[in-house]
Amino acid sequence: MKSVCVYVGANFGKKPAYIQAAKSLGCELAKRDLHLIYGGSCLGLMGILADSVLENGGTVTGIIPEILYKQEAHKALSKLHITSSVQERKKMMYETADCFVALPGGLGTLEELCELWNAAKIGIHQKPFALLNIENYFDKFLEFIDHSVNESFINPECRALIKVSDDIPELLDILMA
Ligand code: AMP
Repeated sequence: MKSVCVYVGANFGKKPAYIQAAKSLGCELAKRDLHLIYGGSCLGLMGILADSVLENGGTVTGIIPEILYKQEAHKALSKLHITSSVQERKKMMYETADCFVALPGGLGTLEELCELWNAAKIGIHQKPFALLNIENYFDKFLEFIDHSVNESFINPECRALIKVSDDIPELLDILMA
């Protein structure tokens, strides 16, 4: 079974569309028999996503650092790994998944995404990754990345590594191709 790692907010965000997207992605992962790997929290969109996979008969592995375990670990996952640090968590997420999706989120999501993107850039992995651009949430982020390409700090080949869609089935088709 293939595993999809999802980076997503530990908050709900302002718009109901973010919650709906997390629910729909969970449902689609379960329907396609794709295993979810994520940060293991029950908070915000992270919890919505994991619950949706489980409610639709799918399986979920959470990877959570010890420091967050007590306050916010999701206690009903198929598997929960507790790591000693945030760095170890990111490494485990990144090594065990076949591909990656980022949904709307904050600094945690952006940090995970940028680390993964930079690792692809320097040739550490060739795993595909994509943004689920719900309600154009990532437009300004992508605008900045394009600015950085124009200013010759990011090369166009690196920019092209990230796939972007606001359509869940299309996004998963791209990642599974
Ligand atoms: P954020 O986008 O800042 O809400 O952080 C959520 C994302 O970063 C998830 O993909 C998690 O894997 C990771 N993360 C960072 N900080 C936290 C936290 N306090 N609780 C849960 N996950 C976190």
